[in-house]
Amino acid sequence: MPELPEVHTVVCGLKSSIVGLTVKSSECSKLTFRGKSIQLGAQDLLGRKIINCSRRGKYIVIGFENQDALLIHLGMSGKVLINASAQKHDHLTIVFADNSTLTFNDPRRFGIVKFIKRADFAKEPLLCNLGLEPLEPEFTQEALASICANKKAQIKSVIMNANLVVGIGNIYASEALYMAGILPNRRACDLSSQEIQRLHASIIEVLNLAIQSGGSTLRDYVRSNGDVGYFQHKFKVYGKHGEPCAVCDKEIQKIIIGARSTFFCTGCQK
Ligand SMILES: [Zn+2]
Repeated sequence: MPELPEVHTVVCGLKSSIVGLTVKSSECSKLTFRGKSIQLGAQDLLGRKIINCSRRGKYIVIGFENQDALLIHLGMSGKVLINASAQKHDHLTIVFADNSTLTFNDPRRFGIVKFIKRADFAKEPLLCNLGLEPLEPEFTQEALASICANKKAQIKSVIMNANLVVGIGNIYASEALYMAGILPNRRACDLSSQEIQRLHASIIEVLNLAIQSGGSTLRDYVRSNGDVGYFQHKFKVYGKHGEPCAVCDKEIQKIIIGARSTFFCTGCQK
């Protein structure tokens, strides 16, 4: 499943490809996604010029001249492709005035495509309850401290709760807690201010490292096959249970927290 760094990478690629283009035509499949159709009318995008492309949580937000927007969530397997030839599982194809194309392809159909009118944007249910952006200035140490205060839930679940802070998925939650030296099953409210400080820095560092290593795949992503992949070579604990920790040599452990696999080192994390 694409996480924040992957979506960030996609958005960067899209920015340089589609901003400034005007829609000539669009076509959607009739299939359903998580039980819902693609929420985009045949005429919604016609003649519209794209003026920006941004990310909110794991949503790609394509903004039009009149401030209407097209929201895309990649779900488990979604890809956004530029100038790709038509293939199986294409669910949205936009043709621009210069004949370039944008395609949303999603074999497993856990993605979301939704057109949002400017007037509805502020109260859009998919967006309006999202928490802080971890790579924006609003995500301060103090903000993380107040998120954790009085929460008895396990710290990994807390930082993965998109209503509190967005975009820290399962992989990067394990990695950030390892980097911060904090066991994933600690109660959030028990973290000291030093631990909050370390966790805050680690979350930002882990996400930025992933974005940096994703930079090299950017070109391929938007040009051809769309397989952005994960930045696996960077992982220190995720998926490494049974292997020795690179720092202390203890065996990396795996437990389940909130139905998600969680990886940590008992030597490095307290
Ligand atoms: Zn260790």
